[in-house]
Amino acid sequence: MLQQTQVKTVIPYFKNFTKKFKTLKDLSKSNEKEILKMWEGLGYYRRAKNLLKCSKILVRNYDSKLPDSINEIKKLPGVGDYTANALLGLVYNKPRIAVDGNVKRVFSRNLNIDDNKINFDKFIEENKKKLFTTNRNADFVEALMEFGALMCKPKDPICLTCCLNKTCKYFKSKKKIKKIKSKMIKNKNYDIFCYINKNKQIALTKNNQISFLKNFNLPEIKETKNFSKIHNWKFLKNYKNSISNLKLNINLYYKFSNKIPSNYDWYSLGKNKEFIPSFTKKIFKQVSTLF
Ligand code: SF4
Repeated sequence: MLQQTQVKTVIPYFKNFTKKFKTLKDLSKSNEKEILKMWEGLGYYRRAKNLLKCSKILVRNYDSKLPDSINEIKKLPGVGDYTANALLGLVYNKPRIAVDGNVKRVFSRNLNIDDNKINFDKFIEENKKKLFTTNRNADFVEALMEFGALMCKPKDPICLTCCLNKTCKYFKSKKKIKKIKSKMIKNKNYDIFCYINKNKQIALTKNNQISFLKNFNLPEIKETKNFSKIHNWKFLKNYKNSISNLKLNINLYYKFSNKIPSNYDWYSLGKNKEFIPSFTKKIFKQVSTLF
C-alpha cells in the first residue's frame, strides 16, 4: 500500500484491511472484486490484484510462509528487486538494501556522483562489509529509506545536523551534483463521453484501452491531440486530473439517453457496491452537477 502512496493516506485502508483479513489464509479466500472495493481510492490497483494473487500462491505452494530466497520471492506476482530485498530485510532480517529513489539519493549524494552513473548492485556488493555492520538488518532497510525521505530530502537536505556530514562528499564539495530530476511529467488530452439517465445513473464499460485504467469501469474515453468540436454530445466541463506522472487535460461531454451500447451497464452516481476507481469517481462528481 505504501508504494507511491503517503502514510497518512494509507492508514485507514491498512486498518480496514488488517481488520478484515487477519491471516494470509483469510486474504487468500477473498476475490478481486472484494479487494478492489476495499482498495477504492488508493490508486495503483495492480498492487491490490498482485497482493491477492501472492496470498493465494503462498497459501497453496508455500504453507503460508514467505520464501527466504531472492529467486523464489521474485517469482511472486508484482515482486521485483526492490520489493524482494525489502521483504528479505524486513521479514528475515537479512543484510539487504531496498534501492528506491530515497536510497539512491542518499548514496548518490554521499559519493557526489549522479545516480544514473552508479551501478547500485555492484556498489552494494563491493561495500557490503562496510554497509552491513549491524545485526538489526530489518531496521537498517527501513532506516535507509526513512533517512532519504526525512533527512537527505530531494529538496533542502538537512545537512547541518546530518550524522553523515563529516564524510558526505555532497556536503563537503564545492561542485555538488545537480538536483536529481523527478519523474518526467507527461501531458495528455482526453475526451470523455458520458451516457446518463434521469435516474442519476451513468453508463460505464470495462472495454477501454487506456493503459493505466485498462479493464476498469469507465465511460467512453478517447485520447485526443487537439481540442475539436464534438457533434451530438453536450460539453459539460474541462478539468485537470493527475495520475502518477501523467497530467491529464479532460474535456467532459454528456448525453441523456436510455439506450446504451451493449457492453455498457448503468451505475448510480451515488454509492455503488462495485469497485469504482478514483478517476471515474471524479467524473461522477462533475456529472452530478447536472442534477
Ligand atoms: S550531509 Fe546532507 S547530502 Fe549528505 S547525506 Fe546528510 S543530508 Fe544528505
